[in-house]
Amino acid sequence: MKKNMLLFLCVGCLFGFFNSQSDIQIIDQLDLAAVPEGKISKYYLHLVDNGLGQPVYVPIMVARGSEEGPVLGLTAAIHGNELNGIPIIQEVFQQLDLDNLRGTVVGVPGLNVVSLNMDSRRFIDDEDLNRNFPGKENGNRSQQYAFRIFDKIVRHFDYQIDMHTASFGRINSMYVRADMADETLAQMAVLQYADIILDNKGIPSAGAAAGSPRTLRAEAVLNGIPTITVEYGDPQVYQPEMTWRGVDGILNTLVWLEMMSSPAKDEPGAAVVCKKSYWIYTTQGGLLDIPVELKQQVEKGEVIGVLKNAFGDVIETYLAPEAGIVIGKSTNPVNMTGGRIIHLGILR
Ligand SMILES: [Zn+2]
Repeated sequence: MKKNMLLFLCVGCLFGFFNSQSDIQIIDQLDLAAVPEGKISKYYLHLVDNGLGQPVYVPIMVARGSEEGPVLGLTAAIHGNELNGIPIIQEVFQQLDLDNLRGTVVGVPGLNVVSLNMDSRRFIDDEDLNRNFPGKENGNRSQQYAFRIFDKIVRHFDYQIDMHTASFGRINSMYVRADMADETLAQMAVLQYADIILDNKGIPSAGAAAGSPRTLRAEAVLNGIPTITVEYGDPQVYQPEMTWRGVDGILNTLVWLEMMSSPAKDEPGAAVVCKKSYWIYTTQGGLLDIPVELKQQVEKGEVIGVLKNAFGDVIETYLAPEAGIVIGKSTNPVNMTGGRIIHLGILR
């Protein structure tokens, strides 16, 4: 037993040695000009410190081509329970042809390290980081984290794809949020293998207070960094279909940006474009059954939810208020008054 244990440990040591994390450099600032060309560089970027004074590092991978070109940033998991973007970034880096790359790809497979470790959408102070940009240099916990995400990472990008999924108790189709009136953003949106594109400016209206908190996408766009948000399916899981579709969409984007010359993947299927969308909520509490599927097109008046009490008596039936497509839906039957039913997209 002891011998086996020793052998196990030694194999572990060797394995650890050959796969050590020693090639991951700890940095305080991301200096893309100093990143070596023609290889993948891995970094732990010191962003903040935890409550024991220990550094919190954000993992960053950089592929810098030998030819000058744009910087494409891929960011995943600003909501800590939204994981499908992580294997997409990892696989994109596996597939990059480093000898023929123009420009730089920066992958951040875990932007919100704090919430990732809590399996949580929200930050440690219960704030939604993605409603806290631009953050504050000397603000509270989420404000400083958001400020540093932008200051230390995102401001280096020329283009960005911010990767999300549905949140707990819900599932999503694969859909893109982008301002389709902007030619660059519209092009980035159609290159993904999405089911649905939601035409959505994402920036605060002119009437909103200048400093009103906003999303990372809005902050990036306001700073001249064309950014789309892609929602890849469901929370807290890896979905292989989302991975390959996500990877192909990003490789398409790299070809379109002329950062890669190899032919684009298959033409993306035509996504359904929606001009707006909204959630429909229960108006009483109960146990909810949703008889429509993701991506299903519903007619006005079609049944989208049946609410029962604990005894199985139907207490309310919910109908689609207008024709549309199911972008996302609730998976949690238990709903108090105001529970989510479906996220309905209205076609353009
Ligand atoms: Zn999200």
